[in-house]
Amino acid sequence: MERYISKSERSRELYERAKKVLPAGVSYSIRHCEPYPPYMTHVSGSRVYDVDGNEYTDYWMGHGAKILGHRHPAIVEAIRQQLEQGSHFGFCHEWEIKLAELVVKLVPSAQMVRFTNSGTEGNMYAVRLARAYTKRDKIGKFEGGWHGGYDALHGSVGWPLDQPESAGLTQSALRDTVILPFNDLDGVRRTIRGQELACMLIEPVQGVAGVISAEVEFLKGLRELCDETGTLLIYDEVITGFRLAPGGGQEHFGVIPDLTVLGKALAGGGLPVGGICGRADVMELIDHLKHPDKSERAFHGGTYTANPFTTRAGCIALEEYEKRLIYPHIDSLGERARRGIEDVIDRVGIDAHVMGVGSIVCLHFTKERPRDVRTASVGKDVETTKRYHAHLLSNSLILMMPTSPHFFISTAHTEEDIEKLVSLTDDFISSIEI
Ligand code: PMP
Repeated sequence: MERYISKSERSRELYERAKKVLPAGVSYSIRHCEPYPPYMTHVSGSRVYDVDGNEYTDYWMGHGAKILGHRHPAIVEAIRQQLEQGSHFGFCHEWEIKLAELVVKLVPSAQMVRFTNSGTEGNMYAVRLARAYTKRDKIGKFEGGWHGGYDALHGSVGWPLDQPESAGLTQSALRDTVILPFNDLDGVRRTIRGQELACMLIEPVQGVAGVISAEVEFLKGLRELCDETGTLLIYDEVITGFRLAPGGGQEHFGVIPDLTVLGKALAGGGLPVGGICGRADVMELIDHLKHPDKSERAFHGGTYTANPFTTRAGCIALEEYEKRLIYPHIDSLGERARRGIEDVIDRVGIDAHVMGVGSIVCLHFTKERPRDVRTASVGKDVETTKRYHAHLLSNSLILMMPTSPHFFISTAHTEEDIEKLVSLTDDFISSIEI
C-alpha cells in the first residue's frame, strides 16, 4: 500500500476534490478502493494510465466491455467518422438496422432486437415484455444474480441475501420477484410450485457473484421447466454476450432462451449500450403498429436509443466477433491464467479457488469451491482478498473489485501479461501465513 501511496500523489489530490462533489468521490461505488482510487487519463490496448503517469495492466477492461482491447483502431476510426456526421440524430438511420441484422445473425435466440443505453435498462424492458406477453406479474430471478439497478431485480444479489441491494425500494418493489436457487433444479421446481411466473431471468455465468457458471444440465432443466409452465426463459448476457462466443452463453452452452439481454461488448466496448432480443412473437409486443392499444403494448424507447455513434461502433465490433478469430486467443489466455493460479494454490496448499470460463477469471479465497453465491460468500477471507487486490495494484496491475477479484481478458493481452499476473499471484499466495 505504501508503494501505491508513494506514486499516486495527484490521484490523492483529485480524490480530495472528488469527495466534495461526487458521493464517495466516485461515480460508481465499485470504482472506489482504499486508500483512494487512481484517477485515469487514457487507455490503450491492455493498458491504462493514471494522472501520476503510472501505467497499469488492465484486467477490468471497462467493466468487461472491452473484449477487443482499449481503442481498437477500427472502432476508433468508425467513431471518428461518425463524429463528422453527428453522434446523435434522434431519427432513424441505417446503422441501427445493420447492427440489429448482425445481432440476429450471431445470437441464436434473436429474431428481433431493440437497443437500450445500458444493461440495466435492457433487463428492465425484458421483464416488462415478459409480463406483457404472459399476462403474469411474478418474475423469477436467481440468488446472486446481478442485473443492474432496476428495483424489481435489486434483491438477493450480495450477502446477506435477504437484504435488498439498496435503500429507497418500496415494499412492493420486490413483492412479485421470486428468488430461485442457482444450479439447483429441484430447488427451482419446489420454489415455483403453485406460482405462475412470467419469466426466469438468469446469467448463464453469474458475473458479480464470482464468475460462477450455470451447469448445462441446469440450463436444460430450466428450459424444459419454462416450456412446461409457459414461462419465458431470459438470459442476461450483458457479460457473456459476444465474450464466450459470437452467440454468447447460449451458443457456448447450447441451450437457447426466449429473450436475451445484451450490453457492454455490444458497442465494441466504450460506448453506453444495451439491448433486448429474442423471439419475434414476444418482441412484437413492442410494435405500436401491430398493437395500437397501449394496454396490450410493452413500451420501449428513449432519447439516445440506437444512436449512430453506438450502433456504428457496434457493427464494427460484431463483424470482428463474427470472424471468430479472437476466441482461441482470449480463451487460451484465460485457461493459462486459471491453470497457473491453480498450480500455485495447489503447491502452497491454501484455501482458494479459481473460477471462470473462457476469457473471464475470478479468484476466491474460500474453503469450498463456490457453486453459487452462498458458497462464494460464507467463509470467504475478505481481508486476504483485499490484500491481494492491493498487492496487484501496487505492482501496476489493476482490476475490480477489491473484495472479489475479476479478471477480464481482451485481445490486447499477451502471454507475458498472464505470466506476470500468475507470478504476482504466486508472490502473494506464497507470502500468506497458513
Ligand atoms: N447484467 C449483468 C450480468 C451485468 O454484469 C451488468 C453490469 N455489470 C448489468 C446487467 C448492468 O449493466 P449496466 O451497468 O450497463 O446497466
